[in-house]
Amino acid sequence: MGSEDSWKDKYFNELEQAEEREARWESERNLLERMLVRTSLASEGQRPELDELLHQLREDLRKKHLDLQRWRELQDQIDRQITLLDEAVDREATHPPVGSNPDAQAAGCSEAAREANTQRLWIARRIGQLLGQLVQQASLEPGAEAEARELQQTLLSSNDWEVLREGLNRVADLVIAAITRSQREFEAFLQRLDERLQALREHFAQHSDAQVDRQDATARLNEEIQAELDKAGNDIQASTDLDTLRESVGQRLESIALSLERFHARETERETLLASELAAMQEKLALMEAHSEQMQAQVLHERQRATTDLLTQLPNREAWQERLSFEYNRWLRYRQRLSAAVLDIDLFKQVNDSYGHKAGDRVLQLVAREMAKRLRSTDFIARFGGEEFVVLLPETPPEEAEKVMDGLREYVSKLPFHFKGERVVVTFSAGVTEFREGDTQEAAFERADRALYQAKDDGRNRVVLR
Ligand code: GH3
Ligand code: MG
Ligand code: MG
Repeated sequence: MGSEDSWKDKYFNELEQAEEREARWESERNLLERMLVRTSLASEGQRPELDELLHQLREDLRKKHLDLQRWRELQDQIDRQITLLDEAVDREATHPPVGSNPDAQAAGCSEAAREANTQRLWIARRIGQLLGQLVQQASLEPGAEAEARELQQTLLSSNDWEVLREGLNRVADLVIAAITRSQREFEAFLQRLDERLQALREHFAQHSDAQVDRQDATARLNEEIQAELDKAGNDIQASTDLDTLRESVGQRLESIALSLERFHARETERETLLASELAAMQEKLALMEAHSEQMQAQVLHERQRATTDLLTQLPNREAWQERLSFEYNRWLRYRQRLSAAVLDIDLFKQVNDSYGHKAGDRVLQLVAREMAKRLRSTDFIARFGGEEFVVLLPETPPEEAEKVMDGLREYVSKLPFHFKGERVVVTFSAGVTEFREGDTQEAAFERADRALYQAKDDGRNRVVLR
């Protein structure tokens, strides 16, 4: 019996492990496939023969079952094309075309170096811009602020890579300084808050002491009055003559009046004191309220900044993750339709290469603004990174989401961009999907991503639904 149990356990363990392994292989395979599709898209445009093979490769990837023999053949053909390509490059380098500059080979090398340098400069400029934002928005000590401004100028204007590298190192220190400073400010605020609360506590303590005192004083007054009244009662009982009775009752009444007066005077004094303390306390509270409102506004502002993309002012990846989780959980619970889209601007590198990064940035800003304007207020769009955007469409069936995205695509393709006096058409490709039974957030996005790459592969400037 025992040995049968352990045999069963072993069997189930094995089964579980095998399933885990399979799931891992499946997800690794997905990842590799996607990488392959992307890499093959990026390698296009060098040789038409190679492009055709890469296209076949992507077509094959879409099929569920791989034909290994066919893949080996494809791989051989691709290898051959790449060898041909390498040979062509070598020939060009060693035998410059007739009539070309004798320095062509050197120029070929320095072309790559120039490209790398342009990239570095672009990064440095971008960091310079970000630093500008930091100076505007974060609270820096005056000294650090001056340093940041100087550094920003260097990053924006220098062409010397060594100077830039040195500058970039200093950026990190400045960012840490800004964070430390805002932490210190927050700590100071908490300290003040604590002091005010302490004062408030003391005030309430005083108030309750006063209350106890007043109760004591009232009890004492009662006793005094009662004693005088008792004595007056006795006097009345014992008296035989009206004149002495009148006199003794008169004395009793006088002493009662005196007690009352003393009591009243003490109480008035106490009230005055408490009233002035209360006024002071109220003033402090009002100050504290104002300060905490200011603090709240600041926290809100900081949060806004942390979830907004600086270039396009759209929600950033952070904000996206938050919203996606929210809508996903709502979907899990209520199961209304939820569609999502991933979109990527077509051949954007060409915009940068032909008209410069500034023009590229401008395109991103405008496209982002127009898309946000055109989407419905219930839809959510964010910049996922680079020239890639993501959209959530709650309560929207996939066919409708496809229509919305296609409308957006058409609209963007008609935006009138002009650079260097030329009309520039900007388009995007998009993949759309709906959240389906059993989907994780990642699974749905993987599907949308595949649809996007199919749209690219099918010729770009289109929307594919999966
Ligand atoms: P595809 O149609 O296949 O998407 O082609 P693509 O050229 O758009 O794709 P690729 O990924 O090769 O190039 C994307 C380019 O976008 C490269 C990068 O320099 C540029 N880019 C990314 N972020 C920014 C940015 O903030 N500003 C600018 N100007 N360019 C950016
Ligand atoms: Mg991209
Ligand atoms: Mg692109």
